[in-house]
Amino acid sequence: MCEDPPIARRATWQKVAVRDEVLNRHDHPTAAEVHTSLRSTGIGLATVYRHLAGLVEEGTVRAVEHDGETRYDCNTGPHAHAACTRCGELWDVPLPATLAKNGVERMSVLDEVHLTYAGVCSACD
Ligand SMILES: [Zn+2]
Ligand SMILES: [Zn+2]
Repeated sequence: MCEDPPIARRATWQKVAVRDEVLNRHDHPTAAEVHTSLRSTGIGLATVYRHLAGLVEEGTVRAVEHDGETRYDCNTGPHAHAACTRCGELWDVPLPATLAKNGVERMSVLDEVHLTYAGVCSACD
């Protein structure tokens, strides 16, 4: 019973560390990359996963599926991505002002649009 406050404080501190790491970088890190950045804090990978899932659930960050991996995005507004197929870099691109509507009429509720430009970045070309 006496253990409760320290455990709660520790959990909060870990969650803040995970949140700040995703909010302070714009390269859409994976959970493993967040864990690597926070390695000096001694945080465990399972804890990083748990807090990332919680942050996604509360809407603080967004999970982006890319190339079979889940990456975490601090930009929760509508936007497209561009991805380099060589180095794996993934960056934000504003959505085109007009998206094709053909075929979308069949959908009665539109929740999300996923748009990723795939190619080779200038550093890799
Ligand atoms: Zn590249
Ligand atoms: Zn993004």
